[in-house]
Amino acid sequence: MLRVGLATLEQGPVDTAARLAADDPLFEGLGIALHEPVVVSGQIAAAGPDSFFWRGMLETSVGTTCRRCLTPVVRPVAAKVDVLFSEDPESDDQSVYLIPPDTETLDLSPAVREELILAAPDYILCREDCRGLCPRCGKDLNEGPCDCGPEIPDPRWSGLAALKQRLEKER
Ligand SMILES: [Zn+2]
Ligand SMILES: [Zn+2]
Repeated sequence: MLRVGLATLEQGPVDTAARLAADDPLFEGLGIALHEPVVVSGQIAAAGPDSFFWRGMLETSVGTTCRRCLTPVVRPVAAKVDVLFSEDPESDDQSVYLIPPDTETLDLSPAVREELILAAPDYILCREDCRGLCPRCGKDLNEGPCDCGPEIPDPRWSGLAALKQRLEKER
């Protein structure tokens, strides 16, 4: 349950458990390819006057491709979430989620969305030493070397090389 009545919270901690489908509208437009539902757990409790502390956990996995060789990769995501909600509009702490005035039910889902963005890995490799694809023939170099041979010198540098030669002659 990601919606918690503030009146209930005043009486004691509340468990936050939810299972959000990978295609839940909450995750729309994030650019995160969820492979599994997002499982939310944890507990929220009053943490002083007009503020509430949510200590939770987000668990899911993302399905994407290796940045170097484009092999499909599924990577688990498990993130601890420590979030403070406050009714104090003076609070200038960036990490605090402000509770709008006259709120009766606290909605944790915006925090789930934000924390998922922070937790999702943005540079995924199939393995640390992935060799990637050959930039010329596109062969997956993890499967062995290609036939492209040694690098052809970039023509953009040839002018520079000629200049260097001339300077060396003049010396
Ligand atoms: Zn790879
Ligand atoms: Zn090649």
